[in-house]
Formats: sequence, C-alpha cells, structure tokens
Amino acid sequence: MAHSTTADLHTHTLYSDGSLSPAAVCALAHERGVDLLAITDHDTLAAYTDADLGSGPSPELIVGLELSARWVKRPVHIVGLGVDPGCHELVLGIRAQREAREARAERIARKLAQRGIDDALAGARRHADGAVLGRPHFAAYLVECGAVRDMAQAFAQYLGHGRPGDVSTAWPYLHDVIAWIRDAGGIAVLAHPAKYKLTRTKLNELVADFKAAGGEALEVISGTQQHAQTHALARLCDEARLLAASGSDFHHPDQRWAQLGRGLRMPGHLTPIWSRWD
Ligand code: MN
Ligand code: MN
Ligand code: MN
Repeated sequence: MAHSTTADLHTHTLYSDGSLSPAAVCALAHERGVDLLAITDHDTLAAYTDADLGSGPSPELIVGLELSARWVKRPVHIVGLGVDPGCHELVLGIRAQREAREARAERIARKLAQRGIDDALAGARRHADGAVLGRPHFAAYLVECGAVRDMAQAFAQYLGHGRPGDVSTAWPYLHDVIAWIRDAGGIAVLAHPAKYKLTRTKLNELVADFKAAGGEALEVISGTQQHAQTHALARLCDEARLLAASGSDFHHPDQRWAQLGRGLRMPGHLTPIWSRWD
C-alpha cells in the first residue's frame, strides 16, 4: 500500500466511549474513502467479536485496541495494532487494565459523593451499558441527574484535569503494556503524543523509553491538527526512526476535531506503519 493510503488506525465504538456500533464505524469509514481501519476501543477487543461486524461494506480491518499505561507517574496511551486477540498475555493484560479502571471508577464515585452527588457508580454503569467504564459515562450521569447542563460542564467542574473526579490511576507500566502487544504479535504505537502537553525534552525522553521498551510507531497524525504540529511530530518520528501512524481518535460524529477518516494525510518522507502489512 502506498503513501496515498488513507489509514484511520485509531477509532472508538460503543464498546468503550464511542457512540457508534462497529458496523456503523466500518460503513462510515468506507463511505469516507478509508482504505485501512482499526477499531481501537479502550481496554477491549469486543468490537471484533460483534456479530454485525463484517456484515456490510468496510475498509480493510486491522485488529487493535488502546491501552492506558504509566510512564514516570504520568498516564500515556498506547495503541496496539495487528494483535492476535487470543494471545494469553494480552488477555491477562486487558483484565489487569479493567481492574485498574474499575478501581478508578469507584474512587471517582467516592469523590463525587463527597460533593453531594449520590449513586454515581451505578449511574455511570447504566450509561456504559456493559461497555468499558470511563469518565464520559460519569459525565452522562452528571447531566442526567441535573448536576450540570452538558458533558462539557461535567468535565469542566467535576471530571477534567485538576477537578475532584480527576483521580490518579495505577495503570500498568509502559514496558508491560508494550510487552503484551508484542507478545500478541502487534505493533505498539505511541498515541496522540501532543496531548500529554510535555516539553520537547520530556517528549524526547518518553519516545526514547517507549522505543527502548519495544515500541515501534508514533501517531504523527491525530485527528485534525495544525500543520506545525504535524511537522514537529513528523520530525520526531523521523529522528527516532519509528514507523508513522495516523488516526482520527474518532468517538462521536459531533466532535469536529476528530472526524472519522478526515485529516489523515501522512507526510511523504516517513515510513508508514502499513508498510509492515504489505
Ligand atoms: Mn476515549
Ligand atoms: Mn487516548
Ligand atoms: Mn482514543
């Protein structure tokens, strides 16, 4: 596959915190001319066992997921692509992630209870409806119980950075997460590197540690981003000799900055991750 390939390798469905079914994501990606698609729900491969997946038109699918990891006390996200869903180490790793996530959800609920918001855990679970529990489900509950007017206010007042529900989580270590992905035959991708708001020096350190642990690719394109940012990440990718990945981080059709299949043109001088799947 060539550089002109449109690859959306970071998307979410209703199995985590997205709003569309896997089949709907495939259909929309197909409609938008995506050649290669990975559904990368948080801590789950459930989309790949969905009965409706593969029932309609779809781009070529790469099996993937997004895992939270701990790097020097900071949370970072690692996308695993081309993994074998049956790999025992990966299955155990996903289970450890789910446990860390459950413990976090209980702590968020306790913090909200201290602010006078009752039954948040049950409420968030109801909104998750069996999906991997995340902060957006708490946000939906806060809207439902009238504590806030919308999701944005829920994050601004209760769940976002520095707010009461922003609890630290004991995510598995970066090198462990990368090891599970490699055990499963996949490629570990450092997701949305600009989102961690690191200084250039810190970001270089993260990339060096990621690479030393067996990480192989960098998300040079993450949704709609400024040219300057693409340029900086392309340079980082090139200097670190990593493969280049692209993804929208699509969750909901109404998020303009993360539209499925949009803004994914990869700078031509990089080695795209899909060169490994030819
Ligand atoms: Mn998400
Ligand atoms: Mn992420
Ligand atoms: Mn994501």
